[in-house]
Amino acid sequence: MTKQKQPISFYQTVDNFFEKAAPYTHLERGLLDQIKVCNAIYAIRFPIKVTNQQTGKKEVRVIEAYRVQHSHHRLPTKGGIRFSNHVNQEEVMALATLMSYKCAIVHVPFGGAKGGVKVNPWEYSDEDLEKITRRYTYELVRRNFIGPAIDVPAPDYGTGQREMAWIYDTYRTLRENELDAAGCVTGKPVNQFGIRGRTEATGRGVFYGLREACNNTEDMKKLGLTPGIAGKKVVVQGLGNVGSFSASISQEEGDAVIIAVGEADGFIYNEKGIDVNKLIQVKMETGSIMNYSDAKKYGKEDRDKVLELECDILIPAALEDQINYKNADKIKAKIIGEAANGPISSVAEEVLLKKGILIIPDVYLNAGGVTVSYFEWLKNLSHMRFGRMDKRYEQKATENLIRLFEEMAGKNVPEDLIRKIAKGADEIDLVRSGLEESMINAYNTTRDIAKTENIDMRTAAFVNAIRLIGADYQSMGIFP
Ligand code: GLU
Repeated sequence: MTKQKQPISFYQTVDNFFEKAAPYTHLERGLLDQIKVCNAIYAIRFPIKVTNQQTGKKEVRVIEAYRVQHSHHRLPTKGGIRFSNHVNQEEVMALATLMSYKCAIVHVPFGGAKGGVKVNPWEYSDEDLEKITRRYTYELVRRNFIGPAIDVPAPDYGTGQREMAWIYDTYRTLRENELDAAGCVTGKPVNQFGIRGRTEATGRGVFYGLREACNNTEDMKKLGLTPGIAGKKVVVQGLGNVGSFSASISQEEGDAVIIAVGEADGFIYNEKGIDVNKLIQVKMETGSIMNYSDAKKYGKEDRDKVLELECDILIPAALEDQINYKNADKIKAKIIGEAANGPISSVAEEVLLKKGILIIPDVYLNAGGVTVSYFEWLKNLSHMRFGRMDKRYEQKATENLIRLFEEMAGKNVPEDLIRKIAKGADEIDLVRSGLEESMINAYNTTRDIAKTENIDMRTAAFVNAIRLIGADYQSMGIFP
């Protein structure tokens, strides 16, 4: 393990986590090397004529973009596309690697991949972003780096439903006879073959994971906390898609108290709790969380201090390398829930673990997004909405049962109550149920490994993932 007090790359961090876990898997070195490496890397540069937002003049920019398929042990490969100024090949490789482990941990049958386009989306007009997205998709199609059976992108930092709709539209235009074309990308709008519940999925998964962690009496006792997520003081860094849903669902369904929220322009703090839905509204209307009225405000120069606040749960939901060698010893949270990918460097993690902080790792905690992407992909391949066949049947069966009880008891159940109880499952109910099941199971498997091997949760999650991927390679007869 690298322990020096200096910056460490994200890819190096992921490598360190892998090597820390490797001895517990008892797999031979050749197999470990195969699991670790990125199987295919596509780096591309293409020119796009865009409008300079400052001068209003047209200019040509050469766009740098990547798609990395980390592991082909299962196909298709899967993972988001990031639009950010920080994109570089190593970053995309690290993110693709995490995707493979993430998929294995929640039993989603994909290999890992990731895409990145080096642009700051807020510096481009919608038309120019569309041009960039469509050209990038075209390049992926040309090289066979996208397709429902090959590699299936999804949203990530800086992208969302809109970009996924452009990708799908470009793909189906180029592959017009492909029956399953809608399965070439997930995170699409619902009216463009998307699935209900995908937008909230990562944040909802974060909530299920944290709730599961807090329900463990033994672990909470060790941290000096009472069991249950209700009343826990939570700090959130980043109010993008993942941060917003993690915070609002933890507040609404878990009764957690969100005491601080940070973004690039500063952070806001209220010990009694912030109304997250109101805050999201303020951000949408004014462009900044700093316009929320009922909280103390700390400006841009203090923005990183949000991570150092005293709290029960800290949720970094922004970018990688937020907790590093510089600030690790200042962190006061008892639990850290990694909603973002790679927010803690491997050097920082050693410091945090020594302090007794419980870290719920990204490879598990933010896997809700890809879990629901898997449901969307299945929906696209089956060409049918979940619940369409059985919703009414289920409703009728429960109704019949109630009627039978009514007859036996000689009493009637009020009709509005029957309607409520006998409701068949809609797509959103099934998606949430499947997500909850995946997150609970994966938590308990990870914790069992952590306990048996006497290791931290991240190492346990990596051990689990490496063993599962290793077993796949072994069953193919490639490795002993
Ligand atoms: N970008 C998300 C992640 O990092 C989702 C990936 C997907 O749905 O394929 O997990």
